[in-house]
Amino acid sequence: MNAAATEPLVGVINAGSSSVKFSFYEGEQRILAGQVDGIGTHPSASAIGPDGEKLDPPDLGARPPTVPSEVLPTILPWARERLGDGRVAALGHRVVHGGLHYSQPARVTPELLAELEALVPLAPLHEPHNLAPIKIAMTLNPELPQVACFDTAFHRTAPAVEQAFALPYEFFEEGIRRYGFHGLSYEYIASVLPERAPDIANGRVVVAHLGNGCSACAMRERTSIATTMGFTALDGLPMGTRCGELDAGVVLHLIQQKGMSAEELVNLLYRGSGMLGLSGISSDFRALLASDDPRARFAIEVFCYRVAGHIASLAAALGGLDGIVFTAGVGENAAPVRSMICRACAWLGLELDEAANCEHCQCISRPNSRVAAYVMKTDENLMIARHARALVGA
Ligand code: ADP
Repeated sequence: MNAAATEPLVGVINAGSSSVKFSFYEGEQRILAGQVDGIGTHPSASAIGPDGEKLDPPDLGARPPTVPSEVLPTILPWARERLGDGRVAALGHRVVHGGLHYSQPARVTPELLAELEALVPLAPLHEPHNLAPIKIAMTLNPELPQVACFDTAFHRTAPAVEQAFALPYEFFEEGIRRYGFHGLSYEYIASVLPERAPDIANGRVVVAHLGNGCSACAMRERTSIATTMGFTALDGLPMGTRCGELDAGVVLHLIQQKGMSAEELVNLLYRGSGMLGLSGISSDFRALLASDDPRARFAIEVFCYRVAGHIASLAAALGGLDGIVFTAGVGENAAPVRSMICRACAWLGLELDEAANCEHCQCISRPNSRVAAYVMKTDENLMIARHARALVGA
């Protein structure tokens, strides 16, 4: 591919508990991407080129990876060979938690890594998986600049009253507060709003990121002032397999009356709840929308009811509402879900254009609607690439 070209490239690594997604950017153009899924069970790799065409993926070899970071020594040389040696000028990483300190991405140093290690207790299910590839890449290529981009950073602008739980004040001071996540997705949407929705860009906007994980963010002048996820990515909207907002008394009940352990609760609340738990069918909205089982219907109704309720709560935080933006897998593709949510938001002044919604148009509200509604594709990886490029001056 493009080995003769000389423009520096930026690689993006997004590592989860059983998968690694990677992409390489030339400016704003993604020229190579892929992922390794099923790590720890049945790992398989896939890759695509600049036009989405399938490529031979990296060979995972005779000894399959058992943890996500183990694929880096395979991915990096494979990408170098395809892209031209020496062209990758920086690596950007998605890191879920930047704590109280990081409101911006940061260049990776041993000191930064030590600070981020100290945040592992705040996100024990995600942070270790995000940090491991950074450490491996540092060992493999000590000279390659790396940048950590935090999911929490965008929400550091939220006021203290939004961040505080009504727990004793010492808890707030020690960092038990609402951080919010999906910040890279919100930051990307904020970056395209002036061009795609100039009328509302600098007003009061709620962005609903509805994917496997779901949250919504209230933006004023493209800055976060409130969001639905809290101390962890468990709070707020119902999700594919996570419960979202839950009376803490339910957790106490499950411990005290049902004798559930911490591990069982983690499994229940993160992996067995949400759409999967409610429907008993699937966490995937495509399967739920296609099903005529009443429980699939019920799960979708609960979801839309809760999302509309949270949008209203975010509108209250904004003191009114000028527009809603739907994004991520469900927000971008599931017209019936958008329709149900928008109808429940009619009282806020939102008039849906059903035809535009069915056609997935960018603007899905009627021309005279007091509150505008949009559909926009998010791009967290491009946001990471932009940050990495800016920080290392590539
Ligand atoms: P993640 O949060 O893992 O990045 P995505 O943003 O890719 O997830 O969203 C994945 C979800 O989007 C899937 O579980 C599925 O429910 C939903 N989805 C994707 N395409 C469609 C579609 N055409 N119709 C309805 N739902 C869809």
